[in-house]
Amino acid sequence: MSTPTVDILLPLGLDTPYSYLLPEGMRLSPGDLVQVPLGSRLMMGCVWPRAAGAGAVVDAKKLKAVKTKLAYPPLPGDLLKLIDWMADYTLAPRGMVLRMALRHGEAPGEARERVGVRATGRPPERMTAARARLLEFLADGFTRGKSEAAREAGVSPSVVDGLVDDGALEAVVLPPEPGAYPPDPDHSALPLSDVQGAAAEVLKAAVAAHAFAVFLLDGVTGSGKTEVYFEAVAQAIRDGRQALILLPEIALTQAFLDRFTQRFGVKPAEWHSGVSARRRARILNGVASGEVKVVAGARSALFLPFQNLGLMVVDEEHDPAYKQEDGVCYHARDMAVVRARFCSTPIVLASATPSLETEVNTRRGRYKRLALPVRFGGAKVPGLTPIDLRREGPPRGRWIAPRLEAEINDTLAAGGQALLFLNRRGYAPLTLCNACGHRMQCPSCTSWLVEHRFRRRLTCHHCGYQAPVPEECPRCGAKDSLVAVGPGVERLQEEVQTLFPAARTLVLSSDLLGGLERMRAELDAVAKGEVDVIVGTQLVAKGHNFPGLALVGVVDADVGLGQGDPRAAERTFQLVHQVAGRAGRGKTEGRGFIQTRSPEHPVMRALVTGDRDAFYDTEIAAREETLLPPFGHMAGLIVSASEAHAAEAYARRLAACAPIVPDVRILGPAEAPLAVLRGRHRWRLLARSPRQLDLSAYLRHWREVAPKPTGNVKVVIDVDPQSF
Ligand code: ADP
Ligand code: ZN
Repeated sequence: MSTPTVDILLPLGLDTPYSYLLPEGMRLSPGDLVQVPLGSRLMMGCVWPRAAGAGAVVDAKKLKAVKTKLAYPPLPGDLLKLIDWMADYTLAPRGMVLRMALRHGEAPGEARERVGVRATGRPPERMTAARARLLEFLADGFTRGKSEAAREAGVSPSVVDGLVDDGALEAVVLPPEPGAYPPDPDHSALPLSDVQGAAAEVLKAAVAAHAFAVFLLDGVTGSGKTEVYFEAVAQAIRDGRQALILLPEIALTQAFLDRFTQRFGVKPAEWHSGVSARRRARILNGVASGEVKVVAGARSALFLPFQNLGLMVVDEEHDPAYKQEDGVCYHARDMAVVRARFCSTPIVLASATPSLETEVNTRRGRYKRLALPVRFGGAKVPGLTPIDLRREGPPRGRWIAPRLEAEINDTLAAGGQALLFLNRRGYAPLTLCNACGHRMQCPSCTSWLVEHRFRRRLTCHHCGYQAPVPEECPRCGAKDSLVAVGPGVERLQEEVQTLFPAARTLVLSSDLLGGLERMRAELDAVAKGEVDVIVGTQLVAKGHNFPGLALVGVVDADVGLGQGDPRAAERTFQLVHQVAGRAGRGKTEGRGFIQTRSPEHPVMRALVTGDRDAFYDTEIAAREETLLPPFGHMAGLIVSASEAHAAEAYARRLAACAPIVPDVRILGPAEAPLAVLRGRHRWRLLARSPRQLDLSAYLRHWREVAPKPTGNVKVVIDVDPQSF
């Protein structure tokens, strides 16, 4: 008689599940989470569907048994399929993909904790070592769950009760779990414009049909895309189903949460790394039970165990933040489409500047376009005027051209706000020695150190290295010889202050001191009109609504162009168009200016004429001709090692053993664009194939025939890389 076994996938760098004995009386199904022994430790794993015929030839005597079935909600079938699909497509080990779906937070029992305690400040009558530990843990004044407090302080729960009886702690009821008050689909819907209404009807019908379909909600900035997909969300709630809304920078979208609350009466469940482990655990349970109806989250929300998903939305679908480039390399938008297919739901991709991939899919009829061609309420999308820096640039050492200066002046005089956009954090992108020409470089990367004046530090934007600005040149020893070259947002703010001393200015960039809380407060201040001139990085391009903003100046539109990356034109177009789209959303008409050294560049022309489609036509034709994505598949292989020659040698061996297939082209090896990162030397190979060829299968075959990397050589495969 054969002993029953199960296959368990572990969240490790393994591609195949391990077999374990099934203890008598334990019933397990695919997706269940269990604890199993591995070597001398116990770890969490997931019961994996067994491929037909597999799992028969194991020697049961050597197998260990499953220890316990955990009380976590099981992973639904569509999520198991997504994990399999992603592992096959990205070549990441299946276990590493599973790991992304197991970021649970706390254990399920505690997640349901409803009573919390906090310190009252009154000393207890009797003090013991255990009581002192607990009081010290709660000294910060925050409320903690009762058992969480006991566990963290290392005391028994009776100590907590004792201190409550003594009056040193008070018991409080914890805030209701998300889902306790479900969103009300009819709370307060805004009357929609005709075009909005037409788009909303199509989406509502799709939600009601419970079938897979992809929509591109293609609306100019300020056209009211959010209100449109809210109607689809409302429909899903009415049908008793769940909705997932992915946002690129959820942590910063307070305005989005407010609008959701206005529309549905309650906040959505927020899912991103800033949410506490305890809250995440509660949301996860609520998602699995179906109690949580709507999740608004970052890309990791894609792996939540929805019980009954009825709609997915990917807002600002073109945003590069959807691509994860460490660990498992994947694009959350594309994976969302895959999951929508597995669970037969419609998915809405929203953008004013769709990615070329999505635009091509729409033109080919795979996705359905819903167009919102005008701004809600009749406001006009601001026109953009080029300022040719070669002919009318500012004097040396300044970055605001006289014409832009005059425009800002007029705007401020009329009581409007101005936004200057420069995608460079810090004070200056380069610091060099006046005496010997030495450039300050990161000790572990091929990149210049960026001066941050607020922090008085030189920083590497690639690895995070920081050092104080030295008083003398590290090479020639000259004193006070280091000078800043070029502008960053901090330096630009200095110029604004000199030109407009009366204006209230603000720098908005992702490295603000004070983190997220401060950032939310600053965005709020801008929206309320408490700032006159905002100087910002790409952070300001992301969907914010600044009603008083009348003027946008793009200080250096050429920044992202001309680095040899075929995607640069698309990126620049999206970024500049989105930034300009922040202006003129209120009552005042908006205007935009782009400072450039290449006004004849197709990107600049498209931005100025506003002819997006002509620009897409040219870009699409160019990609088609050269078989670049989305017309061909592309993958990057980054070989890295701490010794330069080891990385190069392995990259060359890898290239030499690439299987010969007529349609696959291997480019390189060559030094990667960032040749040294965190002390590791990097070489890159690119593999390219026509669309109909399965490039992932080719790469898998290549990996099998290649010699195993030795020493500290590592290979990272990035299918669909963002730059190529
Ligand atoms: P988009 O996401 O397309 O850039 P938004 O959804 O942010 O546009 O909408 C732009 C502005 O118009 C917002 O302030 C929004 O509240 C407002 N708005 C959109 N639709 C309506 C409507 N039907 N009724 C009232 N205000 C609306
Ligand atoms: Zn560095």
